[in-house]
Amino acid sequence: MQLPLPLPELAQIASTLPGPEDRVYVNRSLRLDQIDWVGFDMDYTLAIYHQEEMDRLSIEATCNKLCERGYPDTLLGMKYRTNFPIRGLLVDRKLGNVIKMDRFKYVKRAYHGMRELTREERRQAYHTRRLRPASSRYHWVDSLYALSEVTVYSAAIEALEATGESVDPDQLFADVRECIDLSHRDGSILDAILADLPRYVYRDPALAQTLHALRSSGKRLFLLTNSYPAYTERMMTYLLEGPGATSYRSWRNYFELVVTAAGKPSFFAGDTPVMKVANLDDPPERWVPLEGKVTRGSTYASGSFATLQALLDTSPDRVLYVGDHIYGDVLKATKTTAWRTMLILQEMDVELAANAESQHSIARLDGLLEIRDQLLDDLRDHQAEARRLQRKKENEGGLEAAYEASRVRHKRAVDRLRQRLKVIEAEYDQLEAGVDHRFHPYWGSLFKAGPEVSAFGHQVENYASLYTARVSNLRHYAPLHYFHSPRDRMPHELV
Ligand SMILES: [Mg+2]
Repeated sequence: MQLPLPLPELAQIASTLPGPEDRVYVNRSLRLDQIDWVGFDMDYTLAIYHQEEMDRLSIEATCNKLCERGYPDTLLGMKYRTNFPIRGLLVDRKLGNVIKMDRFKYVKRAYHGMRELTREERRQAYHTRRLRPASSRYHWVDSLYALSEVTVYSAAIEALEATGESVDPDQLFADVRECIDLSHRDGSILDAILADLPRYVYRDPALAQTLHALRSSGKRLFLLTNSYPAYTERMMTYLLEGPGATSYRSWRNYFELVVTAAGKPSFFAGDTPVMKVANLDDPPERWVPLEGKVTRGSTYASGSFATLQALLDTSPDRVLYVGDHIYGDVLKATKTTAWRTMLILQEMDVELAANAESQHSIARLDGLLEIRDQLLDDLRDHQAEARRLQRKKENEGGLEAAYEASRVRHKRAVDRLRQRLKVIEAEYDQLEAGVDHRFHPYWGSLFKAGPEVSAFGHQVENYASLYTARVSNLRHYAPLHYFHSPRDRMPHELV
């Protein structure tokens, strides 16, 4: 038989790939030459917020408001573990727990306050009936912006229960949410950000160049953000004007169309008209429905997928939308429209580093699983044989010496195998805990739950055509690049 030679082109492709952190990962193939419009969300997509600073700001604002509502002052002086939550968790408002599921909605890990539930507690709470994440009992943590809610919630559960007070976990969660929302609405958070942009926002020096390259290759760009006009103006000016900017006079020159206050995810349903904003500080009552065509340099607001798409003058499958919110930007767009999507995941850098560090351990884990399966097979064989001889002994009132020796041998083998299995399983648990810890001290990898893909990883896989750490990673690819997804294989194809 002749073995196929490796294609020389393949080696060349591998060497021209950007480094892992700079790469765009592909779930569903996408040809950039078939994209006419690229739309961008703003917050956490073009504007990368410093998570620590943002958490501190929103925790402070939220706790102040909780205390005004009568919660004890202890919430103010507490130490909050901002590294506790990750995206993709589920808050169980009934029991006051935070949980992480795999793609089969099987709860792999759960915390009550800051205490991890035992296997048995998890089983009692979640494994005996089907979990319905869409019900009002659960709340998805699907953006980085929502992480501080979980930090405050879990810390408050723990602190309040420690005082011996009875806590209504559902009410507490409703209060935390309301206080955070209120802090956003009354300016406690946004004004602080605008007063010190460099402290809260990372200005990607390669962003302007990336947007320019897209435009040079003939793409038209739009901005579609839930932020309000005045805030958008300040943020975009900071991101795209000033030192290191390209020759564009204004940030607006990058975009053909700017839609603010979009109200995603409900933006993707209904047919709300696109509104024109005359002055950036005008309240929504003064916005007027757009008549006729859009003009470049103007600011628009509200709208819906249907009314915006009508302005784009291309078919929806030729639009790529880039956002960070798995539900509001990516899942909704993919489920209800033909837009293609790219998800921005700031967490990629940490995940990739942990993944690289864990390769040896992961290989060992796979090896241990194989050994365990082999031992289990052997165990069953010896058990069956020992049992058969035991029955023979009982039926015949004794055994010939050779049979008796064989029975004893099988029984000893069973004991020995059980012992080895224990050792293997202990090593597996310890190694897995070490790997998880490398990814995240409380929850392990964002994308995995044990050997399975996590519920969040599953959403990314299903709904985002592309995903990457930052928008500027697009600059490493030719404007007409063909993003190929790795070939999908079903289990029966892997044998
Ligand atoms: Mg966003």
